[in-house]
Amino acid sequence: MNMVTAPHEEATGVGMEADWSNVLGRLKSEFDDNVFNSWFKPLALVNIENGCAIMATPTRFMRNWLESNYADRIRCAWKTENPSVTDINFIVLSGFNKAKPETATAEEASVPQPDRRKSSIITQKTSEFGAPLDPRFTFESFVVGKSNELAYAAARRVAENKEVHFNPLFLHSGVGLGKTHLMHAIAWANREKFPDRRVVYLSAEQFMYQFITSIRYKDTMSFKQKFRSVDLLMIDDLQFIANKQSTQEEFFHTFNALVDQNKQIIVSADRAPSDLNGVEERLRSRLAWGLVADIHPSTYELRLGILQSKRENLGADVPNSVLEFLALKVTSNIRELEGALNRIVAHADVSKQEITLESTQDVLQELLRAHDRCITIDEIQRKVAEHYNLRLSDMHSARRARNVARPRQVAMYLSKMLTARSLPEIGRKFGGRDHTTVMHAIRKVEELMGDDAQIAQDVEVVRRALTG
Ligand code: ADP
Ligand code: MG
Repeated sequence: MNMVTAPHEEATGVGMEADWSNVLGRLKSEFDDNVFNSWFKPLALVNIENGCAIMATPTRFMRNWLESNYADRIRCAWKTENPSVTDINFIVLSGFNKAKPETATAEEASVPQPDRRKSSIITQKTSEFGAPLDPRFTFESFVVGKSNELAYAAARRVAENKEVHFNPLFLHSGVGLGKTHLMHAIAWANREKFPDRRVVYLSAEQFMYQFITSIRYKDTMSFKQKFRSVDLLMIDDLQFIANKQSTQEEFFHTFNALVDQNKQIIVSADRAPSDLNGVEERLRSRLAWGLVADIHPSTYELRLGILQSKRENLGADVPNSVLEFLALKVTSNIRELEGALNRIVAHADVSKQEITLESTQDVLQELLRAHDRCITIDEIQRKVAEHYNLRLSDMHSARRARNVARPRQVAMYLSKMLTARSLPEIGRKFGGRDHTTVMHAIRKVEELMGDDAQIAQDVEVVRRALTG
């Protein structure tokens, strides 16, 4: 029996259910049957979170169509039924099929036609309930260096063998360092080598939405069945299920069932299993049983290698000096690095100018400034916690011990210096503290930096880590 208890996973059911059926009633009276049946009937309400109604559609195509044609009407209907709903959002749950027989005609229909529903065959691929794979993310396009060679070797090993050598494979790193790329690469390679295997990739967030939706539509049996019948299951960004009790519990059961059947599981997260705060201990320790491989921040050589390979793919005329400059300057992560190169190529394209070191410096200056603006308080808290060897939760906690309180003050200080957040906003991000507390922290750190070389150095090290 699965009970959804955690507040972020499901809002209170009864009222939401009634509102949803009223919303559907409204739409039914506003549109003709054909439109209603094609577009609205297959929709499933997943949840209401922070005033946003989240609805699931079975296909991407359908989501796009709803977004561009009917979003306003649906939003309006929601507002009328329940004024606390101010926004709507569609997510794609591929393979999810609310009214089992009659859906999924929309994929092929560019516009709904009167006889479409009756005549078309349902082409739902039942084996496909994972997220789509990016064709660019393959092993061939993955550049290997010191920082990622362990993760790469482990990924290759899993992709090329049916036997399970370590379970799970746990990949972790900061953002933009290639976890998702490697997982997609495993899926591509594995599907090619063993076409009969059922390989499923999805994010932890999608896992949660599928789970919640199955509860709402009393379909947990088929949810369990489909997840227990895969040969290789990959769950990306597992940190998302922190503090989501029932999703964690369901994932734990799925995990155990698959391990028992000797099926391979691959999990990624932005930190090591033991650092997954808000995740039950039994799951954390289980996750560390297999092979834990982390991807380290990139080296200059790797960044240069990636840029060279990217230049080849783009077929762009970029001088080596420019690649070297980028590899030296954009150190935060690979996503930013690719972004910088794309931007420079696009800029040259638009301005019809050759790419030179000078033009790159100009464009990049803008980019680096934009990057500075994007630093978030969450990132600052994470970096400070890392630097002082604390838990991330210590940044929000009420603990006053100096070894916790001081780093927290440093984080508040950096939040003021590196983001555009106001004092009250910063206070809120630090466990709901008052703005006067933040102000006090900033003064204190400034004062200490004058007297205490250690603090001054700590602040500088973290600042540098953040601003790349
Ligand atoms: P993560 O999932 O760790 O946040 P991604 O896998 O999304 O990171 O990678 C971010 C971007 O950087 C992607 O476009 C990916 O292709 C690219 N990338 C990361 N590492 C490499 C690598 N070693 N070789 C080539 N491209 C890479
Ligand atoms: Mg990712």
